[in-house]
Amino acid sequence: TQISLSFSQQNSKSPQGLVGLRNLGNTCFMNSILQCLSNTPDLRDYCLMNVHRTDINNNCRSQSALMEEFAKLTQTLWTSVSSEPISPSDFKFQIQRYAPKFVGYNQQDAQEFLRFLLDGLHNEVNRVTVQPRVPPEDIDHLPDSEKGKRMWKKYLERENSKVVDLFVGQLKSSLTCNDCGYCSTVFDPFWDLSLPIANKGSEEVNLTDCMRLFTKEDVLDGDEKPTCHRCKARRKCTKKFTIQKFPQVLVLHLKRFSENRFQSSKLSTYCNLSAPQPMYNLYAVSNHSGNTLGGHYTAYCRNPSLGEWYSYNDSRVSPMSSSQVRSSDAYVLFYELLISNSKHKVNKSSNGAVIGREITFLCFYNFSIFYFFIYKPTW
Ligand SMILES: [Zn+2]
Repeated sequence: TQISLSFSQQNSKSPQGLVGLRNLGNTCFMNSILQCLSNTPDLRDYCLMNVHRTDINNNCRSQSALMEEFAKLTQTLWTSVSSEPISPSDFKFQIQRYAPKFVGYNQQDAQEFLRFLLDGLHNEVNRVTVQPRVPPEDIDHLPDSEKGKRMWKKYLERENSKVVDLFVGQLKSSLTCNDCGYCSTVFDPFWDLSLPIANKGSEEVNLTDCMRLFTKEDVLDGDEKPTCHRCKARRKCTKKFTIQKFPQVLVLHLKRFSENRFQSSKLSTYCNLSAPQPMYNLYAVSNHSGNTLGGHYTAYCRNPSLGEWYSYNDSRVSPMSSSQVRSSDAYVLFYELLISNSKHKVNKSSNGAVIGREITFLCFYNFSIFYFFIYKPTW
């Protein structure tokens, strides 16, 4: 049907997916993310098979230029017969029309760019064109699992696209009043998770610690005290995040840059990114080298057709061994879900965290498979 590209059957010498992107002037942040997305199998196939056109046409969109350019670029990366680097200038023109922040040639943050891009693509292929007017529903009395399901259903009634199918998960945040024990839960969609770097002062840190730090209970006191619904007053509360629904593509962003606006700093870490089991498989990494004043982005991606890793440094693409993926520069990590049906149940363990309905349990302990180490605590 349609183009019906049989990329996997192609000769492994063909340059498919192994084409570089020209740097238009500090656009390495963009190139790095584009290569990570180009190596996201389901998103790539969505573009290659022109399914995005169906989504655009079905909704009689007036705006579809960003998706069109993104799809065109992905198609060129995967069908180009030469290994000459491609200029992403038409795509850049569209992303800056969508997000004027990207006008010009300043160095930008790759994670922020990814957010804008996915949001822009989603808006153009959203299967929902008319947002339903739904009266607010009182779901406070429902058990959390049911609440989570309802909130997810409500979200899909508004935001529903291939991009959402792939990248969006659901985060549960609960707030427990230390006085009366009242617990309120909120469910929010997420496009990526920003993980704090645990044990900043130490030499070695692994992702388990970062994941634990992200999901660890946090006491809100003093000026941060929230209002308890039952006490009707500001109370000391305990806040906790849990992942309610895991996305098909999990994007983890390592908070390497400090949020202090007066003095910026960056943490550099080594990442050992061997295949994490049992849930997710790493397939792409956006790397940042350098510091906050100046740096360079590259990408390491596993070619979905060849199953081998390649380094993408703007116009240069070179093979690399999977052991080299471990890097002090890993900044945004892309993982694909290996299991997504209820047949697979991960056993409960003391390290387990209750998650969504599809996968009953995830042992966070398993994240220890991806270690990373801090070699310079601060700049
Ligand atoms: Zn209370």
